[in-house]
Formats: sequence, C-alpha cells, structure tokens
Amino acid sequence: MTGIDWSKLTFSYTKTNTMLCSRCIGGQWTPVESRTDDNISISAFAGGLHYAIECFEGLKAFRGKDGKVRLFRPEENAKRLQRSAKYLGIEAPSTEMFVEMCKRIVRENIDFLPPYGSHASLYLRPTLIGFNPQLGVQSSKESLFMMLCSPVGAYTGGTLEAIDVVIARNYDRAAPNGCGAYKVGGNYAASLYSLNVAHEFGYKAVLYLDPATKTTIDEFNSSNFFAIRGNSYITPKSDSILPSITNMSLETVAAYVGMDVERRPVPVEELSTFEEVGECGTAVVITPVHRLADKPFLESEEETVYTYGDGLCGEKSLRLYNMITGIQYGEIEDPFGWTVFVD
Ligand SMILES: *Cc1c(COP(=O)(O)O)cnc(C)c1O
Repeated sequence: MTGIDWSKLTFSYTKTNTMLCSRCIGGQWTPVESRTDDNISISAFAGGLHYAIECFEGLKAFRGKDGKVRLFRPEENAKRLQRSAKYLGIEAPSTEMFVEMCKRIVRENIDFLPPYGSHASLYLRPTLIGFNPQLGVQSSKESLFMMLCSPVGAYTGGTLEAIDVVIARNYDRAAPNGCGAYKVGGNYAASLYSLNVAHEFGYKAVLYLDPATKTTIDEFNSSNFFAIRGNSYITPKSDSILPSITNMSLETVAAYVGMDVERRPVPVEELSTFEEVGECGTAVVITPVHRLADKPFLESEEETVYTYGDGLCGEKSLRLYNMITGIQYGEIEDPFGWTVFVD
C-alpha cells in the first residue's frame, strides 16, 4: 500500500521502492544492483557533474484494461540512448540489458504502478552518466547506468486542455550541427533560461526555430511539434530536433487511419494555415496548442498570434491520441507490435 491518490498525480518525483544501477568499464557491466536508497555515492570529480556527460530516456509502464502491464516501445528508447551515448563517447547498455532493467524496475515497484482507469502510469527514467573522477575534458571511461521510476499523472490538467506557447526568436535550444538530435541533459540546461522567461510571460512552452536559418520550425523544449491541415499530419524534418518516439508513433497511426504524413521542413509562414497544432512526447502523448505567439524578442510586447481551436483538443489530434493511449492501456488491439509485456 502506497497511500497515493492516483488522481492527484502530476509530473513530479515520488519515492518508490527501488532503483537499479550498473557500472561499465571496458565494456564490462557490473551485476545490476537494486537499491532502496535513491541517493548514490559519486566522486565530486565525475565527468557527468562537470562536463554534462549525461544522457537519459523517458518511457512508461501502463496497467491495462485486461490487468496486464505494458511497456511502450522500450527498444526504441534503448537504441536512442545508445545513439546519445555514442555522441558523448561513453558506453551504453545493450538493448537486451536496457529492456530487462525496464521490466525489473516495474516488477520491483509494482505497488507504484497506477491502476487502470486512473489515466496515470509509471514513468521510467533510464539515466546514463560519465562516472569516473576526471579533470581533463574527455569522454568518461566509466559510465553509470541507472533505471529510476516514479508514478506520474497523465495530463497537465485532467482533460486534454490546450496551452499557450511562444516562439522566442532571440533564443535557441540547440546549435546548428550541434547536439539537438541527442537526448543529452545539456540541451535541457540550454533551454531553461528561455523557458523560465516564457513562464514569467504566461506561456507553458517555447517553440524553437531551426537555429541555422530561423525560418522553419524545430520543436519545443521537451517535445516535438506537429500540425494538422486537412487530411495531413505535418511534422518538421530537421537535424537539430530530437527524434521523438511518440511523434514516430503518431505518424504511423496517422498513416494507418488514412491520413497523409508529411515530414519536411515546416516554414514559419505555414503556421497561419494549420487547423490543429500540438506538442507530442511521452509525458502526455499530445498537448494541444491553443495560442501560439511569435515574438522577435521574448521580453518585448511585439508579437504575431495564431489561434487554434477553442481551448480543447482538436478532433483529428484526439483521434490519434485515443489510438496511442488505447494501445498503451490495452483497450484496443496493437496492430504494430509496439507493446512489451511485463510478467
Ligand atoms: C524526449 C524528448 C522529446 C519526446 O520524445 P519521446 O520519445 O516522444 O518522449 C521531444 N523533444 C525533446 C527535446 C526531448 O528531449
């Protein structure tokens, strides 16, 4: 018994039973250790603390309508972590090890898996850091892989409420030819300042333009951008955005229900032509955008505002949302083989 009120969960940290960790030097992983204490001991000289030699993942476990426990496409997260680690020059767990640890963390924390119908889930946070003490700027020889979890709520509010976001042209989250396409913690550090300013001005998120030309749309701080116009699902193609597994899944579902899928550079000028616009990512699948302000300077009054819908989720976005969450909660057949069961 955890005493958690599942209906009150948001996206925040709750202490669970255990976390898992393993260290790697020279390709050899230590046996996975399960710890009840989520404080770890680390050298103050660890590269992860100084040079942002860190990458992470986020995925969820769901209690299904049939009582079974499902993970959503964990192999994709494993592969993406391996890509990020390669970029940082550190060792990453194999896909098998990654998925096995996902299953184990769910089993060990099953009391924290929200019940079916609560619209909540158990969020898994695989984290990989450069672990050995170092001073020189170089990729860490030793990495520490941790599998963490925390129960989280499904929505920002309780419905798919639309949010207001802002294009702040005087800020970028990633550099041209930089690490925007990798899930490294440094990208988040880089986007915090503009996000904080945006919050002060009442916006929930910042939508960044491609940093090289500032003419096409990239993505939000922690989620991808998509739009719907007519029968088309439109999402940016860019070297500086993170390949979202949710976005990839939405594209597949959109094609499956007969929509046209366009992944291509999306010029800012097209914003006025879209019928529905949203953020997508693991945390909420889809967050519809209501108002989108385009500001040359985030700190100034000048802006162009685009409005989508009436503050709720658009019809086509909702259809895609229902199909993804339906698969995740075992309410509908998974025609894509995305589900991995935890037994
Ligand atoms: C994690 C992340 C996303 C969403 O990816 P999902 O795999 O769908 O959760 C989008 N953008 C950024 C910058 C991210 O870090």
